[in-house]
Amino acid sequence: MVLDTEHGRVPRRPIAANAVRAELERFDHAVRASIADLHAVYAQAKAEMGEETAAIFRVHAVMLADKSLVGPMRAMIEKELVTAEHAVSHQLGLLADRFRASRDSAFKTKANDIDDLSARVLHHLLGAQQSRLIEAPPDTIIFARDLTPSQTAGFDRSRIIGFATDLGGRTSHTAIIARALGIPAVVGCQDLTSAAADGMTAILDGDRGTVILNPTPEQLADYQLQIEQTRNFRLSLADLCKLPAVTVDGTQIEILGNIEFADEVTQVLDAGGEGVGLYRTEFLYLTNPNEPTEEDHYKAYARCVTLAEGRPLTIRTVDLGADKYTQSRVDVPERNPFLGNRSIRYCLRNLPMFKRQLRALLRASALGPIKIMFPLITSLEEYRQAKYHVRDIMDDLAEEGLAFDSQLKIGMMVEVPSAAIMAEAFAREVDFFSIGTNDLVQYTLAVDRTNERVAGLYSHTHPAVLRLIKDVIRKAKRADIPVSCCGESAGDLEFALLLIGFGLRTLSVTSSSIPQLKRLIRSVNISQCERIAKSAIALDSDVQVAALLRERARKIVPEAFDGRTAE
Ligand code: PEP
Ligand code: MG
Repeated sequence: MVLDTEHGRVPRRPIAANAVRAELERFDHAVRASIADLHAVYAQAKAEMGEETAAIFRVHAVMLADKSLVGPMRAMIEKELVTAEHAVSHQLGLLADRFRASRDSAFKTKANDIDDLSARVLHHLLGAQQSRLIEAPPDTIIFARDLTPSQTAGFDRSRIIGFATDLGGRTSHTAIIARALGIPAVVGCQDLTSAAADGMTAILDGDRGTVILNPTPEQLADYQLQIEQTRNFRLSLADLCKLPAVTVDGTQIEILGNIEFADEVTQVLDAGGEGVGLYRTEFLYLTNPNEPTEEDHYKAYARCVTLAEGRPLTIRTVDLGADKYTQSRVDVPERNPFLGNRSIRYCLRNLPMFKRQLRALLRASALGPIKIMFPLITSLEEYRQAKYHVRDIMDDLAEEGLAFDSQLKIGMMVEVPSAAIMAEAFAREVDFFSIGTNDLVQYTLAVDRTNERVAGLYSHTHPAVLRLIKDVIRKAKRADIPVSCCGESAGDLEFALLLIGFGLRTLSVTSSSIPQLKRLIRSVNISQCERIAKSAIALDSDVQVAALLRERARKIVPEAFDGRTAE
């Protein structure tokens, strides 16, 4: 099933000749609905801001009712047998380009009006598309230009067995959710949605990152066999769950799980995890139409504590922004969201929201061990400010006679170079570090983690990243505070050896990676990991580091790489 989205131009997709009438009806309906929207927006804007400001919406409504604008789109559907989405996007795109090319600045600004209109009509056409998901038959693979993390989280797993997107990178949150839910996915395929069509047979290989459209009978047979082998490999890992993650020479490695939803605690423990190293609480916002109340927060954390049965539980305060937007914020995009008002910055500027979460966290801390972690800390002042609010709420709760853990540990993600470089100073004030390589890589290398165009430059084996990680671990050890890694790279078997070689003893990964990681750890010596780390840090290119890790890891523990590793 191919889904279009509102962002960017919609690819050309053919329709059958006998579907033209229905397609024209869909188109007319979307135009009418858009005009109705515009009248409503006009009335509201007029009441709030006056006629002058509101007039633009009236103009938009008039434009959409104009035959000279609508005519070419209808004609395109009828004559060229294409979807309404493509006709709208193509025709209005041409018009906007024409305005944009004009020398007259008054005309140039009209391009934005046309883009607005296009987005509005597409929204109506595509809104209807989302409901198509409900009709997806069993064994459906979704192809989409892009998907939000919450759309992915909402997939009906009994029918949707995988997805591929044109946009995105391996550590974008849509990909992370796919991993958490165990849905095979391939992202960053660039123009796959123009090649795919509804009803096509396809092979989606999330391990290798490939999609085969209209496979041959030989390819199908080959993949059936591979599916069988993977299933057997997974079964062979199942027994490991109950065994400890100890290296051959007896060093204990703590393996924790990353979760997005409270109920995932069970999955982590079933997979052999010893607790939760990262709970991404922003998903409470992403999967709810309304802002969560203090009670919503409290219920989620209390559930985690109950399920964890006394095991470690690190809960991260909301990390909204960048590729994780709430419904209410999605309409006001920032120019550079990854460098914008996201994460702890957003919380510190929206204190009532932040405090609601902190109150719930502290109240839940009375039920069992919880640690609080702040995301995206870039300066000491920011950490101190965030911590000040925790203390403040402790005072409030004490006054109200409510219970909480006054010894609760407060730590931070190290995921920005400034934090990594200043690790020594931070280590004097925080209770623990967790290295977030997903963001640390993007900010160190200036590579957007969700941008498929630069996906090849996004590399956790870059020597600059290695140096920062090594340094943070060293500074934490020197200050005697716990340090872990909860980025996706901790679940990369070869990279995990390197992290252990740098002295890391706690890894937090998605639950599906836990069994393989455990098997790896149980087959190596710390001295072997240390030798890998020593060799890797001496290299000066990410390609060399990656090659070294691949070669050494396979030499030391070939059995850990028997099965197919996640890519
Ligand atoms: C990270 O940045 O490495 C991390 C674990 O946080 P997130 O993926 O939620 O940004
Ligand atoms: Mg992060």
